[in-house]
Amino acid sequence: MKLNELTAHEILDLIRSRRTSISEVYEAVTDQIQTTEKDVRAYVRLNEKPCHADALDAAAVPVPIGIKDNICVAGQETACCSKILAGFRPPYDATVIRKLKASGAVFVGSTNMDEFAFGSSTENSCYGPTRNPWNLDCVPGGSSGGSAAAVASGEAIWAIGSDTGGSIRQPASFCGVVGLKPTYGRVSRYGLVAFASSLDQIGPLTKDVTDAALLMNIIAGYDEYDSTCADMPVPDYTQALMNDVKGLKIGIPQEYFVAGIDPEVKAAVTAAIEVLTEGGAVVEEVSLPHTEYAVATYYIVATAEASSNLARYDGVQYGLRRQPAAVRKNPLIDMYEETRDAGFGPEAKRRIMLGTYSLSSGYYDDYYLKGLKVRTLIKQDFDHVFREFDAVVTPTCPTTAFKIGEKMDDPLSMYLSDVYTISVNLSGIPAISVPCGFSKHRLPIGLQILAKPFNEEMLLRIAYAYEQRTEWHKRRVFER
Ligand code: GLN
Repeated sequence: MKLNELTAHEILDLIRSRRTSISEVYEAVTDQIQTTEKDVRAYVRLNEKPCHADALDAAAVPVPIGIKDNICVAGQETACCSKILAGFRPPYDATVIRKLKASGAVFVGSTNMDEFAFGSSTENSCYGPTRNPWNLDCVPGGSSGGSAAAVASGEAIWAIGSDTGGSIRQPASFCGVVGLKPTYGRVSRYGLVAFASSLDQIGPLTKDVTDAALLMNIIAGYDEYDSTCADMPVPDYTQALMNDVKGLKIGIPQEYFVAGIDPEVKAAVTAAIEVLTEGGAVVEEVSLPHTEYAVATYYIVATAEASSNLARYDGVQYGLRRQPAAVRKNPLIDMYEETRDAGFGPEAKRRIMLGTYSLSSGYYDDYYLKGLKVRTLIKQDFDHVFREFDAVVTPTCPTTAFKIGEKMDDPLSMYLSDVYTISVNLSGIPAISVPCGFSKHRLPIGLQILAKPFNEEMLLRIAYAYEQRTEWHKRRVFER
């Protein structure tokens, strides 16, 4: 295998025993970018060749990493793949960036995403779509599609994504990599450009579970700059990788295996559950009765928060500013309107309108307030199940990657594809997606594992035990 096809823990072993150097690893990554990036288009900006000290201390983790374009890097353009933020250079580093820099990580570039993370396919990017490395006619998923595609294609060893309703896990599933959405409050959101502040979390995209644990060790933890960040000790997540699921109680929600699920996905997930049973886990069917309201609830709560968060892009403080040729109402209002009309893409505008509507007086009680109440019911479903069970296992998505363009004229069907991932964000709990098979068209399938708040160790433990018993995570796109 080429260096860029290895996992970070394999690379770190080689570096520490002086069998390779970070320069060689970085070169393997940039060689891959030279060959495949013209097709995949995982990045929207590549960094200048970084200079790295080859004599790093033993604790350094000099891993080439891609960063989603909604996470602030001081002095570097951070545009959320939106025209309205073009040219915006944040004056500070996001907390995860500060931590990654301190760990010795090597920043390869900014990865493509749906504009402001609105979407499930990376097609809503002002730079055009990323393509799924497994099949260039298909989407990589979204909104962290560039991050997932970069890792899957070997154009990065690690990537950082953000997950508001599935944006780490769904692209991980579509691209055959591991994606972890931490508990709300586990990773600082400081410097993550806000989409829906009560749902957003930053998390890792990696080639295997061990790497996810290593990256969590770097990014998790309390931050005084994020008031929603939990002041709780961070465990060493690698301690959870014990390859043992004996006696663990795992629930399978009946509501996740009904109409709409692709038979190939169902078969792969069923087989994965069988692997856990053989490992000694006790598997039982459970019910999450409010699942059917999750998509509606999410698209009310998330768009309401988005419309409020996006109010700041008014042409005054950030990025784009446009003024119409002639005065229409008054120069200030005209400038706001012209800037927002030119700067936001169609999906951003749709969400601003949906969110503004459900927050407006007369509709607030019927939509936003009701949405919050149903959100509580969805969360209580999980509280109830986790009283008895250690984890819940589901498919990550009802289907494998769909074709580019397939859902662009049908936003509702795009929204419905998030059905298995959004309850997790509404409830604040952590979840991971790991590769669990391939379709007959050679498209990856993802297995999702959910656990109690702040029990990322349980996710990693089960995911690792599964991985030790299977070979899916070892497949590489360009190795046939
Ligand atoms: N696909 C979902 C949406 O469009 C989730 C996006 C995300 O997690 N950022 O809202």
